[in-house]
Amino acid sequence: MRRRRTVVRARKAAPRLAIDAAGYANLARRVPSPNHDSRPAGATVTLVVVHGISLPPGEFGGDGIEALFTNRLDPAAHPYYAGIAALRVSAHFLIRRDGTLVQFVGCGERAWHAGESSWRGQLRCNDYSVGIELEGADDVPYATAQYAMLARLVRALRRRYPIVDVAGHGDVAPGRKTDPGTAFDWPRLHRLLAPRSR
Ligand SMILES: [Zn+2]
Repeated sequence: MRRRRTVVRARKAAPRLAIDAAGYANLARRVPSPNHDSRPAGATVTLVVVHGISLPPGEFGGDGIEALFTNRLDPAAHPYYAGIAALRVSAHFLIRRDGTLVQFVGCGERAWHAGESSWRGQLRCNDYSVGIELEGADDVPYATAQYAMLARLVRALRRRYPIVDVAGHGDVAPGRKTDPGTAFDWPRLHRLLAPRSR
């Protein structure tokens, strides 16, 4: 009788997401945005601001978000675009519906994502925060792959910066912004970020 050899392959662990000294993620696709400047002298990154965005609103998978953040959104391509094409905005990161990570601005720089804002009495959140956009809409459940990548990213950011809080855009600009919206499951994110017990 022939004995079958069983080959046990070591399961390949997901590569570790890491943020380098300039604030770039090793696993992100880079799409450089000119919409950034320097953080104020002495600013420390202590906050993560979570956003939700889709362009056109409610449609996923297109090029609109990356076009907006790189100043090449065609105002004629969609009725909604005419009103926003001239904006000069960005975020450090975008997490697409499939969990893909895109980076527009190094975290050492100030991205233009929060606008007029404050958190725990500290104004101008852009000065001291990292902005993470999730491709989505306020009332559409975010994807499992997005929660997983967001949690990996927040953990990686915590290893690089003294992050104290993760807040939504609607929390730092109440009355003006609502994203990432009621569809964003904060308890789910907090569970993923909780120290693993084993
Ligand atoms: Zn936002």
